[in-house]
Amino acid sequence: MRTLKDLPELSGKRVIVRCDLNVPLNGSTITDDGRVRASVPTLEYLIERGAKVIVISHLGRPEGAPDPQYSLAPVAKRLGELLGKDVAFVGETVGEQATEAVSALNNGEVLVLENLRFNPGETAKDDAGRNAFAQALASLGDVFVSDGFGVVHRKQASVYDLPKLLPSVAGLLIETELKVLERLTDKPEKPYVVVLGGSKVSDKLGVIDHLLPRVSKILVGGGMVFTFLAALGNKVGSSLLEKDQIETVLGYLAKAKELGVEIVLPTDIVVASKFGADADVEITAATQMESTPFGEKGLGLDIGPESAKAFAEDIRSAKTVFWNGPMGVFEIDKFANGTREVAKALTEVDGLSVVGGGDSAAAVRQLGFEDNQFGHISTGGGASLEYLEGKIMPGLEVLK
Ligand code: ADP
Ligand code: MG
Repeated sequence: MRTLKDLPELSGKRVIVRCDLNVPLNGSTITDDGRVRASVPTLEYLIERGAKVIVISHLGRPEGAPDPQYSLAPVAKRLGELLGKDVAFVGETVGEQATEAVSALNNGEVLVLENLRFNPGETAKDDAGRNAFAQALASLGDVFVSDGFGVVHRKQASVYDLPKLLPSVAGLLIETELKVLERLTDKPEKPYVVVLGGSKVSDKLGVIDHLLPRVSKILVGGGMVFTFLAALGNKVGSSLLEKDQIETVLGYLAKAKELGVEIVLPTDIVVASKFGADADVEITAATQMESTPFGEKGLGLDIGPESAKAFAEDIRSAKTVFWNGPMGVFEIDKFANGTREVAKALTEVDGLSVVGGGDSAAAVRQLGFEDNQFGHISTGGGASLEYLEGKIMPGLEVLK
């Protein structure tokens, strides 16, 4: 793959950088700026070499039209603070104003364009729609740097079509992310423990299939738990459950047995009377979830304390750990214990510990951990999982 070092003279060149600045927002306040910070090294590299830096990114899921709640303006402001210099922002992605703002750039200056997804071409399914938008983007620059690791698994205009139109390389964030992921796939040191949780259950089940032959143990927490418990014949009340995945899950359990790999499920669950901070809470055995006063209305919103301890022990005695997906609804303190225990155990691993996933990364920071307590915090959830699944990533293929 071509990288920044392969670029000739950068001084005075208009360099378009595709970052992933898709941060969680509360109004216009950034609640976790990890992705903005992760984009800084590449931008500094370009600034130091006198490039005219044009930053593009998406934010949230606007539907192909401008939507002020998803403006990148607050992100541009934060980026300026982190770079310690003025960062210009223009309220459109392509068009007259954007073109003017680009031509006003001096060497070493940075401009952020408005949210890519305000344009239907960015995520268009048809090649022509994406290509027209990519052409418009390409006309703004001389060189393209792909550094939005969180989106390289997407076949989108700024990720896949644009790099075909300009000399293109991978940025420093993508290089760093790939180096770590390679260590997870190429002879990882054993015991290798993978911890899976979160709420995107069907998205994440696929990774189990791919990982089973490579890992020592898979610990299952978060919303994924209930599909496993149900597959084993348990009642799970009103918890997150993907009935159509039960057969798949049974298949994984059988395959794990065959390979001698343990899929570890929680033995106790924090069951809530409803979703919310003011819910009543009971801790029950994972096999007795409907025995609480809430009966079949009960919601499993965290792994129980006994399970959290057991998971932490498995993690601490591993040499390689990959964790994706919170163990419970960590956003509410009552349901954050499992996630906190697992995060703490990762900081104590004598080996490589990797956290992947937007919400998982936000969770460890929200719970008071520092980035440097982990081997690596990946900016890409879906992207890192697809890499581990061995899938082809359009945004990386196109840079080869
Ligand atoms: P990531 O972004 O790290 O890949 P996901 O997006 O899959 O993770 O899931 C994160 C979300 O999962 C969090 O908002 C959390 O509240 C939710 N979650 C975790 N456990 C449960 C559960 N038992 N029931 C419902 N939601 C859950
Ligand atoms: Mg998420």
